[in-house]
Amino acid sequence: MAKYKPSNEDQMVMLPISLQDQLVPGTLEHTIHRLVDENINLSVFDERYKNDVTGAAAIHPKSLLKVILLAYARGMISSRQIERACHENILFIALSYGYAPDHSTIAAFVSSMQKEISSIFSNILLVCEELGLLDGTHFSLDGVKLSANVSKEWSGTFDELKHKRDKLQEKLQRVIAEHVQADAQPEVELKRQKKRERRFQLQVERLNRFLQEQEPKYGSEGREIQSNVIDNESAKMPSAHGVIQGYNAQALVDSKHQVILAAEAFASQDHENLAPMLEGAKKNLAAIGKEPTYFEGKELTADSNYHSFNSLTWCKDEKIDAYIPDIQYRKRDPRFADQERFKDGVHGRRRPEAKSDMFTAADFSFDASKQVYLCPHGKELACHARNQTNRYRTYDIYHARPEDCAACPLKARCLSKSTSSRRYLSIPVDTQPPNLIDEMKAKIDSEEGKRIYARRLGIVEPVFANICVQKRMHRFTLRSKRKVDVQWTRKRFALVHNIAKIHTFGVLI
Ligand code: SF4
Repeated sequence: MAKYKPSNEDQMVMLPISLQDQLVPGTLEHTIHRLVDENINLSVFDERYKNDVTGAAAIHPKSLLKVILLAYARGMISSRQIERACHENILFIALSYGYAPDHSTIAAFVSSMQKEISSIFSNILLVCEELGLLDGTHFSLDGVKLSANVSKEWSGTFDELKHKRDKLQEKLQRVIAEHVQADAQPEVELKRQKKRERRFQLQVERLNRFLQEQEPKYGSEGREIQSNVIDNESAKMPSAHGVIQGYNAQALVDSKHQVILAAEAFASQDHENLAPMLEGAKKNLAAIGKEPTYFEGKELTADSNYHSFNSLTWCKDEKIDAYIPDIQYRKRDPRFADQERFKDGVHGRRRPEAKSDMFTAADFSFDASKQVYLCPHGKELACHARNQTNRYRTYDIYHARPEDCAACPLKARCLSKSTSSRRYLSIPVDTQPPNLIDEMKAKIDSEEGKRIYARRLGIVEPVFANICVQKRMHRFTLRSKRKVDVQWTRKRFALVHNIAKIHTFGVLI
């Protein structure tokens, strides 16, 4: 017959635990512990605390920093999760010296670090430099769109928001009327009505406050763009998961071990962010003793989203050897000649046929005597505006007359269905010096250009894969650019990433 030891959970056990022994050399938590203790100047936090005469002793910032860094490295996003870990997980208990900080302490520490975070990021960058993790010859820039901690429902132009407020006010009036009727009804129904009424009232107040205190936002083309009532610094932007309300999180990466040199969250498109990112990297590098000319003559690769006249001009002025292709470069590359095999889509969905027989600018001829363009139907297009600039070039715009196009038998080849009833013709201004767009096309189409640009994929894409997929950092949990920037820039994402690089490739002495 089987004989077992008694299963008695009703007993008290005392285990001797050395917190120090939990931090085993060679583990990430040990690296974090050593880095924070020995390489990060924590005196920058001292001025926050004014409790030397009165007040209780605060939890040391190094303890909070260690706990938060380990939590982020493990994909823990919320302060409550971190608080729970500090109660239950021996590694977190060891890093927090058994104090188990409250979730509100953690959240307040995270969201108020914008002043100190630059110094911490530079300290870590200096360690990377001392351990030889920086190569300093090739850099790659990329970005990922991450949702902000807001709802798209609260976005709109000022007119749309006013309309939303009016609708809510109507709803509120209806709910108040129902409330009056519900007075004679049971108490449960009355409570429900009151709750709804209060909710609508708060929403109307919030919208009113926003419309009074904020100004409409305008895009680069002068049109009003959507504001967001909850976080007005975030923006609506297309992402891999459809249109999101969020931020465009950017990172500039060194090629050797994919250490992040600069990271910042923007509410703008990639092509507007190249110069600010390189300037940010210069500041970070200056803090570890690098010259402002650090990027001169070095290779910089970025995808076609960064391709713009302004970006290329900036790189040329800074003497950076940039490789930023235009959106058509794959069509010119013979290696992608058979990409058409995917034209039916991966699940058999047929893509719309390309409109290959549509008229292009080459089908329009210029009449120098009248200073007009003649369309394939022999009609004149007059100059409507000169020197209009877009992301790539400066254009003169010519317009056809709507009545000419309305009766034109060729309009199916000239006007797309979505455009208005007349043809617009954009003619690049040839005299624009220098033509950096064409220079970049020639550079990127060369064998050397293709070879260098191909490195981008292996340098910067794994960084975002590591951060967004492996560490599950796929959304911001704070609001406003200032706080989101702290989350992305140096603490939560880039800082943790760089510490992991030190842990993997560096040897702390
Ligand atoms: S649609 Fe207008 S611009 Fe185009 S060919 Fe006809 S008349 Fe000319």
